[in-house]
Amino acid sequence: MKKIAATGGKGGTGKSTVAVLLAADFLKQNKKVILVDCDVECPNDYLLVGEKLTTPIKKVYGEFPELDKKKCKKCGLCVKTCRENAIFQAPDKYPLFIKELCSGCGACWLVCPHKAIKPKKEKIGEIFVNKIKNNFYLITGMARPTLEETGPVVFKTKEFALRFAEQKGADFVLFDTAAGTHCPVISALLDCDLAYCVTEPTPMGAYDLGLILDLCKKLKVPAKIILNQADLGDKKKIHPVAKKFGVEIEKEIPYSRKLVEAYSKGRLLDFSLN
Ligand code: SF4
Ligand code: SF4
Repeated sequence: MKKIAATGGKGGTGKSTVAVLLAADFLKQNKKVILVDCDVECPNDYLLVGEKLTTPIKKVYGEFPELDKKKCKKCGLCVKTCRENAIFQAPDKYPLFIKELCSGCGACWLVCPHKAIKPKKEKIGEIFVNKIKNNFYLITGMARPTLEETGPVVFKTKEFALRFAEQKGADFVLFDTAAGTHCPVISALLDCDLAYCVTEPTPMGAYDLGLILDLCKKLKVPAKIILNQADLGDKKKIHPVAKKFGVEIEKEIPYSRKLVEAYSKGRLLDFSLN
């Protein structure tokens, strides 16, 4: 079972389009495919394949700190430990937890010498499964609106998808990541066999491509470049970045009105990359 990511530092370069087109390619080769939408803050792969998200198959839970004031000695150790600056403490007052900044990492309840912080379970997202064809499933992770740190939702979605893929005997698991190089993207990329880094021939596309290729290198995930809308900008901007990281441009996708129409009508599976 091959694990492949469609990623890209910059938003709007066509990662989801490429993920669906890759799925279409593999399906044409009679492979079993699981497409996993890991862009959990705004998943849209279901729209591109003409589906709806109805009842979640699984709820995703995280743990967040809850203070027991009777045990707290106001020592401030939890405040110094929190990497996210999610704990505020005024002099001689109890610490206050700022939920919007908390990642649920658990460091504060581990370091508290008086066991004054307890983890409290909360729903942070949902997972949906759509059977598109006999040999093709879409798994969608969706974070709870306003959740600041969505990496754990990606992690759980991926964990579920890999188990599901093994049960179904899938040949390929395709992870469509969020844009950027932050925690949710790292969670999706970890342990992949290959990452297609989707970019566009613009200065911003070239800059963000450098960031995502650097991340793939650090995570030891082999990378290839897919240049989308290749005829709309200046391709020469991409070549030095590809050369710097020793990564080849696997495919150039020219602008296509037909592809844009298929995208907007949820019929991307009728197309393929090749
Ligand atoms: S580490 Fe524990 S005892 Fe110290 S301020 Fe934080 S919650 Fe209170
Ligand atoms: S769980 Fe982690 S991020 Fe949240 S308050 Fe505790 S140390 Fe900070």
